[in-house]
Amino acid sequence: MLQVSNTVYLSEVPSVTLPPYHTTNAYWILDLGRAVLVDPGDGQEASIDILERDWESLGRPVVEAVYCTHYHLDHSGGARKAGDAFQAPIYLSRDDQACLRDHGGDPTGFQTLSPGRISVGGMDVEILAAPGHTPGQMNLWLPDDRGLLAGDNVLGNTTVVIVPPDGHLGQYLHSLKHLESLELAWIGPGHGGIVRHPGAYLAQYIAHREERNQQILALLSSDWHTPRAIAEDVYRGKLSDAEMSMGEWMVRGHLAWFLEQGWIEEREGQYRKVGAHDFS
Ligand SMILES: [Zn+2]
Repeated sequence: MLQVSNTVYLSEVPSVTLPPYHTTNAYWILDLGRAVLVDPGDGQEASIDILERDWESLGRPVVEAVYCTHYHLDHSGGARKAGDAFQAPIYLSRDDQACLRDHGGDPTGFQTLSPGRISVGGMDVEILAAPGHTPGQMNLWLPDDRGLLAGDNVLGNTTVVIVPPDGHLGQYLHSLKHLESLELAWIGPGHGGIVRHPGAYLAQYIAHREERNQQILALLSSDWHTPRAIAEDVYRGKLSDAEMSMGEWMVRGHLAWFLEQGWIEEREGQYRKVGAHDFS
């Protein structure tokens, strides 16, 4: 267990998740013998054992709730087991309960996690709607600590994969800009190490997306392209052939948003910037 701040502790639990990660970050917000657990992991036995051991080390606080930032199973899959272990209600946003159902999961037992202020012991915690990675992702902001539990909006060592139908790039950029405005002192990501320079890190995240937007739009201003062709252009030398279909999905995330904005048009699976000259 790692102490992140005066009131936040990190239990890194093994989970089945996207490479390069093998663990999910579960967080405890602890004050005056009261706690909430955020993102208990996927529920494998080893991870529940770690949570129970760390709960003992924290002095067996009363666990008031288990919150899931979003429905992906590496975050919410262990909610029921953790809720049973610590006799606490489990929470997930309404939109992500619907996503869980759409993906063949069962949201029974989840209460609705909504934006707003709660308190843990004497600590204020603000629950923020921060969609983009999933439609109903929630982040937890600790104004006294100037800390943020970011779910998968931020990862410790890599950028985040935003792919439809869960992901929405426009919403994601909007959420990142809101998080940037909080002037955070640290971010607890969903996976990977604690981010200790959040201002620079978020700025880099935003710049990375915007650069990619410009790059794809520039490509589409000359001619029609398939998502695959775009991926092969923008990820050339960065992704292997085997990884290129993931690249194609990421490109589709950009295209879905550009279409929504009316910046591009689609014809038989190919895309072009609106108003581009047709040289063919
Ligand atoms: Zn995750």
